[in-house]
Amino acid sequence: MTKKEIQSIFQNQKKYFFSGKTKEIDFRIECLKKLKEVLISNENLIYEALYTDLKKSPTESYNTEFGAIIEEINFAIKNIKKWTRAEKVKTPLLLMPAKSSVLSEPYGVCLIIGAWNYPFALSFCPLIGSIAAGNCAIIKPSEVAPNSSKIIAKIIQESFNKEYISVIEGNAKTTTLILEEKLDYIFFTGGTEIGKIIAENAAKKLIPYTLELGGKSPCIVEEDADIEMAAKRIVWGKFLNAGQTCIAPDYVLANNRIKPQLNFAIKKNIIKFYGSAPEESPDYPRIINKKHFERLEKLIKGNILFGGKTKKNDLYISPTIIDNVKWSDEIMKDEIFGPLLPILEYDSLASIVKEINDREKPLALYIFAENKWAQEYIIKNTSSGSVCVNATILQTVNPNLPFGGVGNSGIGSYHGKHSFDTFSHKKAIMSKSSWPELDISYPPYKGKLKILKKIWGNK
Ligand code: NAD
Repeated sequence: MTKKEIQSIFQNQKKYFFSGKTKEIDFRIECLKKLKEVLISNENLIYEALYTDLKKSPTESYNTEFGAIIEEINFAIKNIKKWTRAEKVKTPLLLMPAKSSVLSEPYGVCLIIGAWNYPFALSFCPLIGSIAAGNCAIIKPSEVAPNSSKIIAKIIQESFNKEYISVIEGNAKTTTLILEEKLDYIFFTGGTEIGKIIAENAAKKLIPYTLELGGKSPCIVEEDADIEMAAKRIVWGKFLNAGQTCIAPDYVLANNRIKPQLNFAIKKNIIKFYGSAPEESPDYPRIINKKHFERLEKLIKGNILFGGKTKKNDLYISPTIIDNVKWSDEIMKDEIFGPLLPILEYDSLASIVKEINDREKPLALYIFAENKWAQEYIIKNTSSGSVCVNATILQTVNPNLPFGGVGNSGIGSYHGKHSFDTFSHKKAIMSKSSWPELDISYPPYKGKLKILKKIWGNK
């Protein structure tokens, strides 16, 4: 798309926003309902696109994308009236008589930049927050999942006028052109390095933003954990979408007293889920493209306990366990974002807390332990976007929990009410009455300081 076309979309959206239509609550509800209807009518096309881009099975696509989007829409429709009501707050005595409230107002035109690994969820879930909050939106899906990008554009075209919500397909150059506009909000999902470029662009124009980034999410398995259960849940969370999940357990930290049992149980569960030839399993996805395949293939070295098989022409990398990994190994440098699971062992929780804290803050952190002390010790002494105890991934499914990172793993959060809040400016409103008042705050100030301090409660 040319710069002129992008400018025209942006200006028309600005005009539409100022018409006030998007702020009407009934309009927002109607739009959410319309989106749901069009999504449902395109359900099979969504599954086909995800299969073509990632060889994702319809069940996994439903579980991690389609179903999650529909749930977000239902939750927003159910709660929107409550969310949009101005929140009354107390007013201090000195300011009386007056009323105070906080009003959630839409920003205007929001840009939503998506990633390719969950292309539908990462475009539509933020969009639901944007609609609920009363904004116009431009969506830039990832060009790396081209079939999904096309279907996202089709769904939006069938649901809304361009003046309200548009999809602009394209690569980094297109995104750069969109970023030249004076947007009112930027919501970005992607890698940390591109996140920094987005933040730099936003800072130049003081545009508020959210960054949903990635990182290396540790998964700790303590000696008193239910090993069979832990292995099953780790294997599911790691090899879902062939490991191309931002909150996948990136690596396992196994207590050295249970590591042999854990390794055995992990292997057993991989075979149980995908068979002894996972390339033949209809449930095991592929790597998104050659570039990522080659990046991952280079990391397959060391003590390969299981898997390690690759097929370049099919972009297949088998579920792989690498044992006896050290913190200094190459695989421990960057987010893996693929089906390779390094296992590191530890002796004391204190030693791994130090290692975790010496690195960038993770997006998610997993602990498998029955002992409450160990759970709390890890939660209190580390920082991460989220923590999930005795499970993986599921913390993102609860609409009452914020989903987002901290530091290098992101800024801001969304899901459920948090999406509405993210796409809303919280406007403080004070309404004074014209009744007579004490002239204590007005000049001349002589003799008023003591009284003022007393009224504010300061001695
Ligand atoms: P990416 O950063 O390469 O791309 C994300 C988006 O940015 C794409 O739409 C792309 O077109 C655009 N982009 C790329 N280069 C750009 C540039 N120079 N200027 C402006 N825009 C540019 O990320 P990806 O490869 O699509 O996704 C993988 C990363 O995303 C991983 O690190 C993963 O952890 C993270 N991720 C995070 C979440 C989350 O919710 N926190 C979800 C999914 C993925």
